[in-house]
Amino acid sequence: MPSQSNTIRSYRFVIHTAKIKQARILPFSLPAIVTTPTIRAMNTLHSWLIYCRPGFERDCVEETQAKPVETAENSGFVVLQGKPKLAYTQLTFARQLLTLHGEVNDLPERDRLSPLLAALPATPEKFGALYLEVPDTNEGKTLSGFTKRFQPLLEEALRNESRLVDDPSLPRLHIFFPDEHRALIATGDPHNSSAALNGIQRVSMVSDAPSRSYLKLAEAFEVFLDKKEQALWLKPGMTAIDLGAAPGGWTWQLVQRGLKVIAVDNGPLKGAAAGHPSIRHLRQDGFRFRPQRPVDWLVCDMVEQPQRVAELMTEWFVGGMTQRAIFNLKLPMKKRVAALQEALNSIRTALNNKGVRYQLEARQLYHDREEVTIYLARKR
Ligand code: SAM
Repeated sequence: MPSQSNTIRSYRFVIHTAKIKQARILPFSLPAIVTTPTIRAMNTLHSWLIYCRPGFERDCVEETQAKPVETAENSGFVVLQGKPKLAYTQLTFARQLLTLHGEVNDLPERDRLSPLLAALPATPEKFGALYLEVPDTNEGKTLSGFTKRFQPLLEEALRNESRLVDDPSLPRLHIFFPDEHRALIATGDPHNSSAALNGIQRVSMVSDAPSRSYLKLAEAFEVFLDKKEQALWLKPGMTAIDLGAAPGGWTWQLVQRGLKVIAVDNGPLKGAAAGHPSIRHLRQDGFRFRPQRPVDWLVCDMVEQPQRVAELMTEWFVGGMTQRAIFNLKLPMKKRVAALQEALNSIRTALNNKGVRYQLEARQLYHDREEVTIYLARKR
């Protein structure tokens, strides 16, 4: 077995914010994720690690307008530089937004711990949590068994060195394994990232849900609203309209939370949603339907052009017909980012012109395929 120093020497490290004292154990060879192979350049350029749905790497680059450093198609992640600041809530295709500090290549199966500990950045000094993560790909799934086994070992080592403490306000340490031999070392700002492992908010299915779309609205509520907001704004007895409701997954999610729902769709509601006392099913055109009195929630999952849905949502808000909305924009076209931005900008412009104060967030959820989910809320 090689000695520890030999072992370390054989790894390729790229430390972006390394302190000089760390550099003595880092014989820099060809950096794999930076284009300027000098410590100085790496120190001055902020590097970002973003997770996304595989196939949406280009969309991540486009929406951040940052310099792509590593953007393999269908890899489920990108490395970007050239933007000192990015705001997680303003990104749609990024599931996770992390600051990248370094990378370890050629990880040996027998001892992954030592090189990873050696590659940790000197700052932040302490981490509030440790996340071992993998891409949302078939290869990534095969690695999740390893990360589960490895987690307690690394946690113990970090706690022994007092680098890991139980404080959710501190930056999290994320070690991302694109494959079994490579680790990207990153940190997440709890105020500017997702708190969910792999950036995927897990939600559970109920056995009587009429469709799997139930999960999408469940995820949207978890992603866009914290627990306090959920308790405040999803109270039993509140009212909701569901446009394009059939077979009834979203309606069922609302009913499970105690809301009374008008489900608008020419198609039939299925399973437990059919004939439920909290649901009124109207076979009408969702673009023409208007409520007799304002409601607490509007949700909309009609398959239509993004711009047409955006105009409908704007009309409901300008007319004061709802307090909040969650809706999907379907993006089957090539220029997804442009189509999305056009739709969102039209909402912003119209609401600004009418003096409506609002919160608007867009995210491609785990359960979204070629689509994104939007949260729009009226602010006082
Ligand atoms: N959210 C639903 C669920 O959870 O089960 C699934 C909705 S599905 C993706 C889209 C639905 O929109 C279809 O049932 C379709 O009939 C409906 N739809 C499309 N255009 C519509 C329109 N103009 N008015 C009403 N419903 C419409």
